[in-house]
Amino acid sequence: MSVDEDEQLEATSGFPAAILAAVEDGITVQDAEGRLLWANDAAARLIGFESAPDFLAADVTDVLSRFELLDEQRRPLTPEQLPGRLALLEGRGQERIVCYRILATAEERWSSIRALPVEGEDGRVVAVNVIRDITEQRRAAEQIRLLADASELLVSSLDFELTIGAIGGMLVPTFADYALIDLLRPDGSLEQVVLRHVDPEREAVLREIRARYPPDGNPDHPASVVAASGAPLLIETADDPELRRAARDDEHLALYRRLEPSSYLVVPLMARSRTIGTLSLGMGESHRRYHDADVAFAQEVAGRIALGVENSRLYAEAGHSLDRLRLLSEAGELFASSFDRDRILARVSRVVVPRIADACNIYLLEDGVLRRVAHAHADPGLERLMDEMTGSYMPNGDAPALWQQVVVEGEGMLASTLTPELGADLAGLGLDLELFERVGSRSMMFVPFVSRGEVLGVLTLGSSEPGHYDETDLELARELARRASAALDNARLLADLEQRAETARALEFVADGVFLLDDGGVVRLWNPAAEGITGLRGAEVVGRRLEDAIPGWGDVERLVPVTESRHGGGARAETVPIEIRGRELWLSISGVAFGDGIVYACRDVTEERAVERLKSDFVSTVSHELRTPLAAIYGAAMTLKREDVPLSLDQRDGMLGVVASESERLARIVNDILLASRLDSGVVGVSLEHADPVEVAQAVLAAAEAHLPEGIRLSLRAAEDIAPVRIDADKVRQVLVNLVENAIKYSPDGGAVSLELERSRDRLRFLVRDEGLGIPASEFGRIFEKFYRLDPDLARGVGGTGLGLYICREIVRRMDGRIWVESAPGSGSTFVVELPLV
Ligand code: ADP
Repeated sequence: MSVDEDEQLEATSGFPAAILAAVEDGITVQDAEGRLLWANDAAARLIGFESAPDFLAADVTDVLSRFELLDEQRRPLTPEQLPGRLALLEGRGQERIVCYRILATAEERWSSIRALPVEGEDGRVVAVNVIRDITEQRRAAEQIRLLADASELLVSSLDFELTIGAIGGMLVPTFADYALIDLLRPDGSLEQVVLRHVDPEREAVLREIRARYPPDGNPDHPASVVAASGAPLLIETADDPELRRAARDDEHLALYRRLEPSSYLVVPLMARSRTIGTLSLGMGESHRRYHDADVAFAQEVAGRIALGVENSRLYAEAGHSLDRLRLLSEAGELFASSFDRDRILARVSRVVVPRIADACNIYLLEDGVLRRVAHAHADPGLERLMDEMTGSYMPNGDAPALWQQVVVEGEGMLASTLTPELGADLAGLGLDLELFERVGSRSMMFVPFVSRGEVLGVLTLGSSEPGHYDETDLELARELARRASAALDNARLLADLEQRAETARALEFVADGVFLLDDGGVVRLWNPAAEGITGLRGAEVVGRRLEDAIPGWGDVERLVPVTESRHGGGARAETVPIEIRGRELWLSISGVAFGDGIVYACRDVTEERAVERLKSDFVSTVSHELRTPLAAIYGAAMTLKREDVPLSLDQRDGMLGVVASESERLARIVNDILLASRLDSGVVGVSLEHADPVEVAQAVLAAAEAHLPEGIRLSLRAAEDIAPVRIDADKVRQVLVNLVENAIKYSPDGGAVSLELERSRDRLRFLVRDEGLGIPASEFGRIFEKFYRLDPDLARGVGGTGLGLYICREIVRRMDGRIWVESAPGSGSTFVVELPLV
């Protein structure tokens, strides 16, 4: 992408193009006419283009004609219903899940699209689309649901024909337009037990094909090929040449053409490494295609079906107790109903005790150590004894045979009686033999939980009766472990998916700034909140050392508490000051260290700090301000009270005058505090009336004249065109009184104080000018803040609460006006109040 385009994007949408180009989500910018203005490479790839320029060069109608757009329920959508168009139409953010069926390949892709209307600097409104490919999540979620449903169904009944039929119903139409299940008879022929098609008419065609050209006696039939080889068969594209090749004669071909398959897939039904049948799935109606990834899922479903079939076969066979099958069935049901690892494992122990074991332990393998996560005993007293046994086992030196066979090779082990060798093996893993003796298992079985060839943990079962267990029991235990493993697998898959999606989403939206530094202090991640807090964009810092982006970081880093991630929980955050581009920020920050770096989370507490400081400033100034008049009043009152000192009438009047004026000053301070807090809580309204601004100004000056210090000269200058207007005269007076008082107060060496009135077409201005101390430009903003004083230590002996200008600003704001100051130290100040005229 060229620099020009980047700039254009920034101008039209205000988005930093570099970040957008780097993110994994597809991002496009479109205008109201549906024209595509910008796209990143990720967006181009989602649509099937190599790169953004190819995508941008393409014709929109042409692009759109490559897809069928569908909504979440797979109903057709028009381009006008896409979030981008809707966002522009309605002027607010939109979100929806969209399915694109790529017509050329019939592949379905799912996206979640969020669109926001954004106004560019040129005033043009465009829509920014953020497109996340959720195909994998959707597929996985759909498949997990289907697997769970299928497992539940299979274990809930031992009538396999019924349940298998129902599974056929589940696969169609989510995963296939038609499905067939064939079982191998003992003589090697195939028996069709399920045939199902979404479309009843085509179901009839399929039946006819199967009746006239059955797999039996035809070794080239896909079902026969798979049943013989045990390997899956995938025909991604079932086009006409393919059908011609598969058909036995012209009539067969004609039937195939009526069935119109587009893709099909046959997998073996495997139980205990034996092929017991086949599952055939086909697409036609929906023009979808199967891909390599679908094979694994089909095998997974086939595995469950095979289990179900085996169960019912076992059930039918003599010599197997009904009880055990019930147990398997029950266990399967329990496992399938949870996606929580610990709950699944706790259930295993409760299912087997006491029905097939007196004692049961369940261990998970973590870093080469077996850690016990659940245990149970038929005898509550002995279960308490088991509580005391060590929770973890690992080989101490050479791995004993037991460990080798169960944990390393993933095989089960039967110990129908306890031999001295087994005892030695157990002791070698760290078992307390004395406790073990007291628990009293005399016959044992050890079976691993295996998932995708990996041993996840071990199940041990013990009976207090020697010679209790035999090979059939071991088979049953293996079967149980297999089911539990499948459930654990589902749980793990789901947790992974959720976690990945969640963290990515969460980081985008959390209010806390989150950033990640690798071992070298280089920024690897910088979320939007971190951008907001620091004002540093991800594009500026990611890939750079943070120390280089924020020079003070090194000092701050030492103060930040960091915990190790495996200890869980976060550290208590520390509040630290940090300067970023000349701005002082206070951050509440903590870190968590993981393998390759540290993740920091921070929050901006600058405001809170400022408020804290204000509070303490307030206490010190206000107490000082209150103490001064109180001291004067107290002094005068005490003097008046004395009888031993005779006072002249004049002296007495003077004292009473002090009491009166200082009381008034006290009242004013208290009033200011009250008014400020009323302004804070928003209860001060404005009431407009017809009034003459000149009269208001005259009254203010007259009041000031009453106790004017020596050396100050007051004057009023009003332009000719000032006439009565609609203003809140009371509030204006209050503001002017404050400004004139300040002008006098901050002219300790005397000088002229003038009040001037000017008028422009729709504005009225009051200017209060003095020749006093003046104010440095850096403080122009802050003097209007609550409690802020330039000279809090009273170097020039002028007191005040720091509330006057805050009150002025708040009142002026409520009248929709503005207040500001023009000044320089030593050359006086001019405060300007500007009010709109209505
Ligand atoms: P106070 O006067 O009670 O301290 P204000 O909010 O009225 O509180 O003013 C805030 C600060 O602004 C004052 O402490 C003073 O330092 C400065 N200030 C206000 N008016 C003037 C002025 N006319 N000349 C110089 N400084 C002023």
